[in-house]
Amino acid sequence: MKLDKLKAELKGDLFTDKMHRILYATDASAYRELPLAVVRPKDKDDIKKTIAFAQKVKSSVIPRGAGTSLAGQVVGSGIVLDVSKYMNRILEVNPSEKWVIVEPGVILAELNKYLESYGLMFGPETSTANRCCMAGMLGNNSCGAHSLIYGSVRDHILEAEVILSDGSEAIFNALTSEEFLEKCSGDSNSLETSVYRYIRDV
Ligand SMILES: Cc1cc2nc3c(=O)[nH]c(=O)nc-3n(C[C@H](O)[C@H](O)[C@H](O)COP(=O)(O)OP(=O)(O)OC[C@H]3O[C@@H](n4cnc5c(N)ncnc54)[C@H](O)[C@@H]3O)c2cc1C
Repeated sequence: MKLDKLKAELKGDLFTDKMHRILYATDASAYRELPLAVVRPKDKDDIKKTIAFAQKVKSSVIPRGAGTSLAGQVVGSGIVLDVSKYMNRILEVNPSEKWVIVEPGVILAELNKYLESYGLMFGPETSTANRCCMAGMLGNNSCGAHSLIYGSVRDHILEAEVILSDGSEAIFNALTSEEFLEKCSGDSNSLETSVYRYIRDV
């Protein structure tokens, strides 16, 4: 399967031209590497199709928010998956229970502007707040100047709906010991189960 066939299957964008590959060849670090292609997914189906393609051609997928990482986290030779362009909606807010559901590309400052009218904010005040995205913050477990008070991102994530590297879906949230053991005894062929077993073994 060629990249142009993948492009035809996606709702979002796929770029292979030199300009886009150069634009996405770095983050805020000194590392540089030209990716094979850049995908800007419209939804999770686009992400799954990109992962399936990468598996077929034995490439990697590099999820990316704003690309402000300082250690080359979003630099690589695989397919960069930029969720900031289209997957950036705030889906639901529950002011009384103080939670919000967001897509991965929501920018922290925009989320906090939205939450202000409810008298709420998402605590960790990363200094790149006007551009860093929620998924990038989660990936880096970002924090900020008031981390002793506000904690870091992992202290505030109730649940993460994820797509694993084999394209399967999983939901990660807090579990009791019993629930955790139940997850470990799941289907041996499932990557989600392997993740839980790995944590148990560690
Ligand atoms: C000047 C400057 C100041 C900074 N100050 C701080 C600070 O105060 N505190 C702090 O903690 N950090 C800081 N950083 C680092 C960085 O800005 C933060 O960690 C930021 O939260 C990263 O967000 P991002 O959207 O740019 O993520 P990216 O760099 O795009 O990605 C970060 C990680 O998340 C992964 N990722 C992104 N999207 C997804 C997705 N949809 N699914 C799965 N994985 C995903 C990426 O693969 C990568 O591993 C600073 C950086 C700079 C340049």
